[in-house]
Amino acid sequence: MKVVVIGNGMVGQKFCEKLLSKGIPDLQLTVFGEETLAAYDRVHLSSYFAGKTVEDLTLQPVKWYEENGIDLRLGDPVQEVDRLKKNVTSFEGLSIAYDYLVFATGSAAFVPPIPGVDKHGVFVYRTIEDLNMIWRHAATAKTAVVIGGGLLGLEAAKACLDLGIKDTHVIEFAPRLMPRQIDEAGSEILIQKLKELDITTHTGKNTAAILGNETIKGMIFTDGTILSTDMLVISAGIKPRDELARACGLTVGPRGGIVVNDHMITNDEHIFAIGECALHNSMIYGLVAPGYEMADVVATQLAGAAKQFPGFDMSTKLKLIGIDVASFGDPFISGDEARTIVFRDNHRGIYKRINFSNDGKELLGGVLVGDAEAYNMLLQICKNKMALPPDPMDLIIKAKEGSADAGAGVVALPDDALICSCEGVTKSDICNAVTEQGCETVDAIKKCTKAATGCGGCAPMVKDIMVHTMKQQGKLVRNVLCEHFGYSRQELYDLVKLRDLHSFDEVLDTLGEGDGCETCRPAISSILASLWNELIVKKESATSQDTNDRFLANIQKGGTYSVVPRIPGGEITPDKLLVIAQVAKKYNLYTKITGGQRIDMFGAHLNDLPSIWEELIEAGFESGHAYGKSLRTVKSCVGSTWCRFGLHDSVSYAIRIEERYRGLRSPHKLKSAVSGCIRECAEAQSKDFGIIATEKGWNLYVCGNGGSKPQHALLLATDLDSETCIQYIDRFLMFYIKTADPLTRTATWLNKMDGGIDYLRNVVVHDSLGIGAELEREMQLLVDAYQCEWKNVVETPELRSQFTHFINAPKEKDPTVQFEAMRDQKKAATW
Ligand SMILES: Cc1cc2nc3c(=O)[nH]c(=O)nc-3n(C[C@H](O)[C@H](O)[C@H](O)COP(=O)(O)OP(=O)(O)OC[C@H]3O[C@@H](n4cnc5c(N)ncnc54)[C@H](O)[C@@H]3O)c2cc1C
Ligand code: SF4
Repeated sequence: MKVVVIGNGMVGQKFCEKLLSKGIPDLQLTVFGEETLAAYDRVHLSSYFAGKTVEDLTLQPVKWYEENGIDLRLGDPVQEVDRLKKNVTSFEGLSIAYDYLVFATGSAAFVPPIPGVDKHGVFVYRTIEDLNMIWRHAATAKTAVVIGGGLLGLEAAKACLDLGIKDTHVIEFAPRLMPRQIDEAGSEILIQKLKELDITTHTGKNTAAILGNETIKGMIFTDGTILSTDMLVISAGIKPRDELARACGLTVGPRGGIVVNDHMITNDEHIFAIGECALHNSMIYGLVAPGYEMADVVATQLAGAAKQFPGFDMSTKLKLIGIDVASFGDPFISGDEARTIVFRDNHRGIYKRINFSNDGKELLGGVLVGDAEAYNMLLQICKNKMALPPDPMDLIIKAKEGSADAGAGVVALPDDALICSCEGVTKSDICNAVTEQGCETVDAIKKCTKAATGCGGCAPMVKDIMVHTMKQQGKLVRNVLCEHFGYSRQELYDLVKLRDLHSFDEVLDTLGEGDGCETCRPAISSILASLWNELIVKKESATSQDTNDRFLANIQKGGTYSVVPRIPGGEITPDKLLVIAQVAKKYNLYTKITGGQRIDMFGAHLNDLPSIWEELIEAGFESGHAYGKSLRTVKSCVGSTWCRFGLHDSVSYAIRIEERYRGLRSPHKLKSAVSGCIRECAEAQSKDFGIIATEKGWNLYVCGNGGSKPQHALLLATDLDSETCIQYIDRFLMFYIKTADPLTRTATWLNKMDGGIDYLRNVVVHDSLGIGAELEREMQLLVDAYQCEWKNVVETPELRSQFTHFINAPKEKDPTVQFEAMRDQKKAATW
């Protein structure tokens, strides 16, 4: 059988693999590729900028084609198809006959006919060659614009930013971002998230022309506004490569694409079309997984079996580090057809929407922005029509609080649940890889089943299924951080310390592999901060940080920042109160007294932050670390100094504790309190560690929690003297820092601990592991290494200069920030 494939992209290559696996006798397979490179992983194209080489991205080396008897003709596009003679002619003049012809010509970037689009400095984002050109141009560019606020446009914008172009803009014609995947409210949160990454978004904008002589200088829009720029990347959609098919008389759709039936057959029974060039049921799938399924449909039929393409789910997850965006099922269904639950938290930048059937039984679709941890599970619930909890709200709220154990969720999945859509791998395939092939790492599962080797979105669920299956078999499960590090958090903590590693890149080079991901980057960042107490605002760690850490301030509604100086134990002099008042007045900040007994100032512009802090530091204040995963406040009651019930001086003790642990980076934020007697006015039993005065000393409580999931702290030790109490807190905190997973509060950490509070008491009080002295020594090192991060920024011009909206105009304030008057102060304008 003579089979000719036109196109050696992702789907063309997958087709070769599938066809070979069928073992068809006398197969003669010829592949023509227009690009000079063998098929590469276009889905992970952006990782080329992050250090992946062409070799890394290549799906199979040229040698593989040779070894499998495939005649691969790279850099030689097919120019003509003679359907009567059943042969093709290439650019080099090669004429090859076929029994079956497969079009896998993919698509090209759609370039709208904007006047000036041919200028130097205008690019598309599709091939490695495109990326090489962008890379060269970006070296001298200060501003970049991307046309297109869809999946690929946002990826291109992030790439521009990673290439060092600080002033990056996204232009979207529609009134919202990712219009095919998310709704208006989700888009608002996404815009806020992009702003935190320094990407400015302009929605509802239509480009009228590209300005400049030969080289782009700017863009003018139909509303008359102008945006100066040094380069433009167009990512406004795709256009199927159907020109050859059209020329040989195959039927194409009105808006392009080679028309195919459910068997992927065109109007010529000897010609198939697969991947992004195929128009199935009026649909071009711009994703790799449906293309792979189409490849299998054709290969199976050529091997003599029956198979049809049933259509495909378009659920997607954006793969930008630092931004979680996903949509699944039908994200927009509403009205009479469905019920919708929406959760929106502007403060944390989280938006979740789920749509379910009117009878509350079936999940129909949804949108996740800012926290897509639950994506894989929700997708499976939706696809497999699994039963919903009595209150469907639990699907999106509990998952965030860590109470819905994602690992436990996989138990309920049916065996035939499709986990990896790209490679068609089911839950039972993964379980079998563990039970029958002995796979015990995600890497081994990948090699054995190919799961998670396509877009990679299913990797967390693959891990959950693997862990669950291993546990069922009674095997020891090594809780490795992610696919890039074969160590647990605790092991990494020790190794980073032993090897004296100080940056994410050093840790990755020495202990890991690949590029890192949204799991390991913040986790390593937190380990480094805990270990060395170094300045978190350092440039090299910028991509691993929360925005809050990057600007040493919490970003607030409306795009401004808050300023929170430390007020240890809540004690403050009138002089210092005056300074806060003066600063707040001068910079027009909204002031509020918090539950943690300090004064927050809201509404600060990014570029005012260093000056505000300069004045506060001058007056003796220091950073309150309200933005970090670190100690917040140690609240205190007035204690024996003023209260007639007070047993001890709770204020002095709270100040001592707050000053000891200030700036301590930990897996999550830490809160503490000291009460002067059992009446507990400081609410110490709702804190991560709380201290209550007794007749004989202090009682120490640990692992309490307020907030959305309150939990009473548990008594760890009683009647301690002040020194011993601090010794135990040192051990407790250090043990938590070293063993808790990232973003785990002490309460959750204890809930998951085998042996619970008794075990913890044994470790901390009775030193059952013999590590007490070491934990104390490590804590002392951190205490000694303390520095006020804001003082460092204020005194270092290079760090100071990072606090600006516009790199070219550092004094310019963000024009989108708007306020309204409220009760003699201001508030963020409604947005
Ligand atoms: C930056 C980026 C990120 C992406 N991210 C994702 C993602 O996260 N998830 C996802 O599912 N998908 C993603 N995609 C889309 C995914 O890459 C495509 O769906 C997939 O590559 C389509 O494969 P294909 O083989 O159909 O087309 P292509 O990969 O475009 O391959 C077609 C090949 O055919 C060649 N060709 C065309 N005409 C001829 C001819 N006449 N003769 C010979 N050769 C010819 C072309 O030069 C090309 O090499 C992304 C794409 C890009 C660009
Ligand atoms: S906790 Fe006790 S000492 Fe402190 S203020 Fe309340 S009553 Fe007074």
